Amino acid sequence: MASTKVKAIVIRSSNVKDKDKLLHIYSLEQGKMLVSMRGVRGEKAKLKSAKEIFCFGEFIIENTKNTNIVTSVSIIDNFYDLSKNIDKYYEACAILDIIDKVVQEPDPQLFIIIIKALKALCYDDVKKFYVIDKFLLDIFSAMGCNFITERCSSCGATLGSRYLNLDIGELVCPACKTLSSVAVSDACYSVLRILSSTPYDKLTTLKFGGMGEAQAFNLLSKNYEWRTGYSMINLI
Ligand SMILES: [Zn+2]
Repeated sequence: MASTKVKAIVIRSSNVKDKDKLLHIYSLEQGKMLVSMRGVRGEKAKLKSAKEIFCFGEFIIENTKNTNIVTSVSIIDNFYDLSKNIDKYYEACAILDIIDKVVQEPDPQLFIIIIKALKALCYDDVKKFYVIDKFLLDIFSAMGCNFITERCSSCGATLGSRYLNLDIGELVCPACKTLSSVAVSDACYSVLRILSSTPYDKLTTLKFGGMGEAQAFNLLSKNYEWRTGYSMINLI
């Protein structure tokens, strides 16, 4: 039997049979994988703490003909403290939901971003939505859409007033805006620019206030829905 070792995080888990679990994990080495854990819902199961979402660790997986069975997990972090704050928990769930829906292939840079985003939510006192906003900016960047730019993506003119062209997910000038473009206020753009350039472990230093931060989350959610066809999970 071949076995594989991957560093991965559990993004979705469901009960199967009497005591088994089916896990969707996102791994550094192989991207998304479907694996099963045998007998793991039993009281004395040795892997039971590794069966829940957010569990991040080194998984040893035995590859049989039809299934990938987890035989051992060395947990690095299970982000347990997320469960103590409902706002942070839902924001972290939104990150897993995005990975579940729109990412398939391995992406080492994105993998590191996911862990950093979850750490910021779990251990730092970051204002609501700042982590998910920054994470969405990173996801759009991974999709090839550059949100933070001083130039119109259609004509190259320097941007004074900005519009987000939802068809392409990039900023355009007033002359290039289309029917599916929405205005991006200066306050909103400033929030996005600062979030984009601030590392996850420094987000705790930011406090914007005002309309800019509410507009930023609304704009990013709308762009996510247009880019992917999925809604953001309800975070309010
Ligand atoms: Zn233009």
